[in-house]
Amino acid sequence: MHELPITEEIMRIVTAHAQQAGATRVTAINLVIGDLTSFIDDSIQFYFELLSPGTLAEGATLHFRRIKTRFRCRRCGQEFEPEGRNWICPACGALGGDVIAGKEFYVESIEVV
Ligand SMILES: [Zn+2]
Repeated sequence: MHELPITEEIMRIVTAHAQQAGATRVTAINLVIGDLTSFIDDSIQFYFELLSPGTLAEGATLHFRRIKTRFRCRRCGQEFEPEGRNWICPACGALGGDVIAGKEFYVESIEVV
């Protein structure tokens, strides 16, 4: 359910930029979503189809670029992609680390006509 407010936010950003650009229609929206955000592509798509009719973004295609979670080990500095919930540094065995990727969520670009 938490995809509803962020889809509304996407709509606000996209329609504002499309209007600024003098566009008649948005044909595509390119989104970047980090795996740590827990946002689900299908849910965003669902809410988009609910919210977009009658707006500049009606009929636009959503493209999702997923960013894999990456950690940097606090003990040895190794960067690694955790697998599932196994957040253990493959180099030294320390647990977790600083998140360096995976929390992204933004509209990368839109395509308009
Ligand atoms: Zn380490």
